[in-house]
Amino acid sequence: MEYVQLTSLTEPQLVAYIQSLGQPAFRGRQIYKWLHEKQVTDFSQMTDQPKAFLEKLSEAAVIETLTIARKQVSKDGTVKYLFRLPDGNCIESVVMRYSYGNTICVSTEVGCAMGCRFCASTQGGLVRRLTAGEICAEVYAAQKDVGERISNIVLMGIGEPLDNYNNVLDFLRIISSDHGINIGMRNISLSTCGLVPKIAELAQEGLGLTLSVSLHAPNNALRSSMMPVNDAYPVEELIAACRAYQQKTGRRISFEYAMVKGVNDTPACAEELAHLLRGMSAHINLIPINPVDGSQYSASDAKNVNDFKERLIALGMNATVRRRLGTDISAACGQLRQEAKGESDQ
Ligand code: SAH
Repeated sequence: MEYVQLTSLTEPQLVAYIQSLGQPAFRGRQIYKWLHEKQVTDFSQMTDQPKAFLEKLSEAAVIETLTIARKQVSKDGTVKYLFRLPDGNCIESVVMRYSYGNTICVSTEVGCAMGCRFCASTQGGLVRRLTAGEICAEVYAAQKDVGERISNIVLMGIGEPLDNYNNVLDFLRIISSDHGINIGMRNISLSTCGLVPKIAELAQEGLGLTLSVSLHAPNNALRSSMMPVNDAYPVEELIAACRAYQQKTGRRISFEYAMVKGVNDTPACAEELAHLLRGMSAHINLIPINPVDGSQYSASDAKNVNDFKERLIALGMNATVRRRLGTDISAACGQLRQEAKGESDQ
């Protein structure tokens, strides 16, 4: 028998499920609060529920939880978790401390199918997609361990969020619900490598989150050499989808640009990039690439990154260099999971 994954249900779904067990709707709402506001990890903690009902519930349903397999704390306060799921798979989350609050970077999949040539997360391919409740559990477990409120979320960990569309959307609905942890959509960013049809679908959802697009190159030849997804959805289709997204939502789009020495960091690239994004309300985030094992890419040096930024600004663009946090604890996507895999393979 398949267990019902309780933490993955949105409030209306949970209420309907609890009613299907012969209970009144209010019990569903109470249980939703236990799971998402109080973030309990065991049925016995739901102290206002009848014992017999909890027994019946625990025979049919599970609360999705994870355990801390490893934890690293950086000198700058960044905390990186390697979480173990009940099936033995591992994922990563990172908590970053900013002046405006704590931000968590969550994984949405175990591994990734996208194949970006600079990314550690995709090296073993996609193992499986996470449930909505498992993504919630990353936030709850990290908040509990850090002991401070987490106020912002970026979906920029392992996996491609738009490749796990329905579960990610349920996660967003649950995590922003005011009967739960209540993290507003304005404090959430979703990052995608550019799955065009899903960007179009997301535009229709009417969510107030920030869309972040991993662009990394201003033309097809260069982008395809770095990201196989570009063969399916080339730059012109991606940018058209972004422009349509912007028109529909009125939200500024954030473009990630990982700078690779001698590859995408030339003055000509800056000019092509400015031309490509002209007229769009966009923010360009420049990140010196984090070299990962087995990749031929190395990071552009600081002067090149800064010159690139200045050139974009002179061309009327909005560009900043991303502050690097946690570099002493290999906090780039997927690095910790790869390290842990290497150790267990030995
Ligand atoms: N799949 C999504 C989200 C996860 S990756 C996406 O592609 O956007 C989060 C960000 O980290 C992306 O912008 C990704 O391109 C970038 N990234 C991955 N590996 C990196 C590396 N080695 N150095 C710098 N950025 C990297």
